[in-house]
Amino acid sequence: MDHQDLSSLKCVHCGSVFNISRSNYVCPKCGGLFEVVHRTEEYSLDTDSRGVWKYRPLIHPSIPQEMIVTRGEGNTQIYKSERVSQWSGIKSLWMKQEGENPTGSFKDRGMTVAISEAKRLGRKSTICASTGNTSASAASYSAIADMESYVLIPSGNISESKMAQAVSYGANIIDVPGDFDAAMSYISNLAEKNQKYYIMNSVNPWRLEGQKTITFEIVEKLGDCDFISLPAGNLGNTSAAGKALKELKNWGIISHVPRIVSVQAEGASPFYNLWSGRDNHLVPVKAKTIASAIRIGNPVNWEKALISIKYTDGIVTKVSDDEIMDAKRVIDRSGIGCEPASAASVAGIRKLVEEGTIDRTDRIACVLTGHILKDLASMPVSNRHLSVGSFIREIGS
Ligand SMILES: *Cc1c(COP(=O)(O)O)cnc(C)c1O
Ligand SMILES: [Zn+2]
Repeated sequence: MDHQDLSSLKCVHCGSVFNISRSNYVCPKCGGLFEVVHRTEEYSLDTDSRGVWKYRPLIHPSIPQEMIVTRGEGNTQIYKSERVSQWSGIKSLWMKQEGENPTGSFKDRGMTVAISEAKRLGRKSTICASTGNTSASAASYSAIADMESYVLIPSGNISESKMAQAVSYGANIIDVPGDFDAAMSYISNLAEKNQKYYIMNSVNPWRLEGQKTITFEIVEKLGDCDFISLPAGNLGNTSAAGKALKELKNWGIISHVPRIVSVQAEGASPFYNLWSGRDNHLVPVKAKTIASAIRIGNPVNWEKALISIKYTDGIVTKVSDDEIMDAKRVIDRSGIGCEPASAASVAGIRKLVEEGTIDRTDRIACVLTGHILKDLASMPVSNRHLSVGSFIREIGS
């Protein structure tokens, strides 16, 4: 058997199958997105590795070890907090802190697989559109792999700390007038015409293979919990989680499938509209929310994400910016901390508990997608600040 036959690319829309070395990103027959399918018939691990690449047989079984570009992604901690449990109404609530990844977000899990595949294909340049974290991660991994990186940033619409990472890691920055969706549509057009740049956005199905490992780690740690809650922007994580759960079920690792909760920001909730309405096609919106990482009005992965929600009998919900920032304050105060978009995962759970959709006794894993330092502009400033003089008066000495 040809080594490469271990995996292939399959169109999620029409089911056509292609060789993995094909360089397009969408199906030439119908324009649907590809997913990677593996012939792997059983659950097996690479026990010499930790984190993402421990799951190599399940995410990229045929990649040679020497092609793997890694800086130790994944294997993040999972936390419980009395404070967050009280606020959300869920006693058995865990938070998986993806901010502990090398560049401070879950994007590294997908990026290590995508950049390794770029190396396997002999590519020299990478490109992505980004609200910030993708560019930080893509720039870092491209530098490590000695590739040139290009990042398209919505002008004036990105957090300074994320931008600082991309710049420092050496990316070529391209300012796009408009929002993330404008940058993304530029990338999609370019990719089909120009093979020079390897796309690092989540239309690249290898990104999602890496991101499956969030779910693998949750299940390994908690067993089959009742819900996995994710903030939802471009819908890569929602897609990847559903794929991971389906594979775990097929391999017999879980008997009961956790339900995915996909949480959008109210001002950027086209997927919520699709799920709750009568349309069977996503209708893009103009996105507006404080949570810049999910400020996306035309998510590329909606079709895959819908498959995930249906497969897991999942729920799509939306929360306001105030609810997001309330959740962030509680998560920050608990000592764990996250960026605004991440807090949507916990805010969504509180809302569903209040609505009675989720039971207070359910076991829930919330994914905190990005680090607290990622977005300093939205840091709360309401803490007590005392002068030394008033502190001395207060302690009475
Ligand atoms: C990219 C990102 C998201 C959105 O994830 P999708 O998979 O695109 O839905 C959410 N939070 C953070 C911190 C991110 O960086
Ligand atoms: Zn197709």
